[in-house]
Amino acid sequence: MGFVFDAPKQASVAIHNSADRFPVRRIFCVGRNYAAHAREMGHDPDREAPFYFTKPADAVVDNGAQVPYPPKTENLHYEAELVVAIGKECTNATLENALDHVFGYAAGNDLTRRDLQSQSKQKGRPWDTGKAFDHSAPCAPIHLATDADDIEKARIWLTVNGDIKQDSNTNKLIWSVPEVIVNLSGLFTLKPGDLIYTGTPEGVGPVVKGDVIHVGIDGLTELETKIV
Ligand code: MN
Repeated sequence: MGFVFDAPKQASVAIHNSADRFPVRRIFCVGRNYAAHAREMGHDPDREAPFYFTKPADAVVDNGAQVPYPPKTENLHYEAELVVAIGKECTNATLENALDHVFGYAAGNDLTRRDLQSQSKQKGRPWDTGKAFDHSAPCAPIHLATDADDIEKARIWLTVNGDIKQDSNTNKLIWSVPEVIVNLSGLFTLKPGDLIYTGTPEGVGPVVKGDVIHVGIDGLTELETKIV
């Protein structure tokens, strides 16, 4: 048996200090997971259950890559996020064993066509056009979990052309990394290769062609993305 056309290339992310790459299976993203960001988007950051949207695996973009300004938007936004890379199959994780399933962590950017997302929200429609477009998930090299002990109390920041736009700490996540894994693994069987973008802090805003975005998280490789 053959395929009727060449099977798509496996999407993947670099691994810090390794020649091997992390094959990406799915990309889950958590909505409104920092209180100050929920407020800036016009929502009450009470501790309602976390909610999710997804991006296709091949939306992932390597560190240093140039991202074309996407079509059908006039309001492309950056969102600095801690990315969790799953390394073991996981169903109904507990708080005690959740982190056992983590391969590592990376700095990511949940690029968003904010105008299309806002239109979807107003009409009660899915967010795919606002969130799941081509090249919408830049991700820096993944650091092994064993080398990221302080990841749940790490500064997370973002600059555009060197100007600081977001500056927070992962200890402000409404739903912590283990709590997200517990919740998400109750909804889906998580498998090796799944990435979880855990949500962005306050300070989101637009970028235009020519802008260079840096996302930093203490202890991880900085992510650079140029919009072209
Ligand atoms: Mn986000």
